[in-house]
Amino acid sequence: MIKEKIQQLSKDIFNDVVANRRHLHSHPELSFHEVETSVFVANKLEELGLEYHKMADTGLVALIKGDKPSNQVVALRADMDALPITEANDVPYKSQNPGVMHACGHDVHTSSLLGVAKILTDLKSEFGGTIKLIFQPAEEKLPGGASLMIKEGVLENPKPAAVIGQHVMPLIDAGKVGFRAGKYMASTDELYVTVRGKGGHGAQPQQNVDPVIITAHILTALQTIVSRSADPKSPSVLSFGKVIANGATNVIPNEVYLEGTFRTMDEKWRSEAHIKIKKMAEGIAESMGGSCEFNIMRGYPFLINEEKLTARTRGHAEDYLGKENVLDLDIWMAAEDFAYYSQVADSCFYRLGTRNESRGITSSVHTPTFDIEESALEQSVGLMAYLAVKQLGN
Ligand SMILES: [Zn+2]
Ligand SMILES: [Zn+2]
Repeated sequence: MIKEKIQQLSKDIFNDVVANRRHLHSHPELSFHEVETSVFVANKLEELGLEYHKMADTGLVALIKGDKPSNQVVALRADMDALPITEANDVPYKSQNPGVMHACGHDVHTSSLLGVAKILTDLKSEFGGTIKLIFQPAEEKLPGGASLMIKEGVLENPKPAAVIGQHVMPLIDAGKVGFRAGKYMASTDELYVTVRGKGGHGAQPQQNVDPVIITAHILTALQTIVSRSADPKSPSVLSFGKVIANGATNVIPNEVYLEGTFRTMDEKWRSEAHIKIKKMAEGIAESMGGSCEFNIMRGYPFLINEEKLTARTRGHAEDYLGKENVLDLDIWMAAEDFAYYSQVADSCFYRLGTRNESRGITSSVHTPTFDIEESALEQSVGLMAYLAVKQLGN
C-alpha cells in the first residue's frame, strides 16, 4: 500500500527534513531576494536527479513523473521568503541574518516540499501522473511571487488540474491539519490618504480649514460602507491604523495623512467598494472646504478553496492522519498570495498544525518568538506526498 510506504519514508527522512528546515531558518532572506535559498533548493533537486526551471528570478519549478501511465498533473506549492523581523528565540537554528526571520514558516513549507520531492522520487514506480513542484519567491510582498510565477507560465505546460498548498498554523496542535472549502482568506488593498485643509492658529478656526475635523468625519462615515453598503452575508473589513495630523495643542495642521486596509471576499464588491470609499472621502472633504487624495493599492485577491477538490483532499487527509486529526477552519481575513492560483485553477490551501503548548510553542506567525513543533514535519511531508498521489488518481 502506497500510504504505508509514504508513512515509512516520512519517518526515514524526518531528520533530513528537520536539518533542511533548520538550515533555511538560520539563513532567511527577504521577499524577492531569496538567492541563497534558491541555490539551496536547486542543489537538493539536483541531488534527487530532478531537472528544474527558474522563474520569477529566484523561483524554481520541477516535475516528478510517476512510472505508471497517466496524463494527470497536480501542482504542489511552497513559498520561500522571510520577514523583516529580528528573531527573539534562543535556539541553535536562530536566524543568522540580522533583522530577517522566517516568522511565517516558509522555511517549513520549503523544506517540506523538498521532503515530498524525495518521497515521491523514491516511489516513482508506484504511481502514475505528474507532480509539479513550485518553489515561489515573495509571498510576503506585493505584487506577490505567485502572480509573477503565473505570468511566467507556471500553471502551463503541463497544466495542473489542481494546485495544493499548505501553511503552518500555530493555533492548531502539531499532528493535526485544518481545511475549509469555499472562500477562506480575504483580498487585501492598502489605502493611502492625504486630507488637505488650511492650517493656522488653533484659536482662530474661522480662518482655517481644519483637516483634522474633516478626517474625523471621513473615518466615521467610511464605516458605513461596511455596515450599510456591503452585503452582510459576505465579510468586509475597513481599518485605518495610521492617522497623522502632526499639529499641536494650538496649531491646526495643513494636512492629515492616513493609512488603512480594506479586505473582502468578493471581487465585484471589492471594485465597487473602492469607488464608493474614494467618492465618499473626497465628497466629505470637498463639502467641508478641503480636499482629499485617496490612493488604493490593490493587493492579493481573495483565496477560494474549490469545493469538490477540497472535500476530496480533506477526505484523503482523514485517511492519512485519522478523522480526529483533521479540523474545520474558520474564514480568516488575512491575505495570502496563494489566492492567485485559486483564482485561475482549482486549488486547495490547508493548514498544518505546529503548536505545542507544553513546550511553549504558541506564538503567532509574524512575531519575533514564532517557532514550530518540529515533529509536525513528519506529517507535513507525508501528508502532502499522499495528497498528491491520491489527487493523481492512484
Ligand atoms: Zn506571512
Ligand atoms: Zn506565510
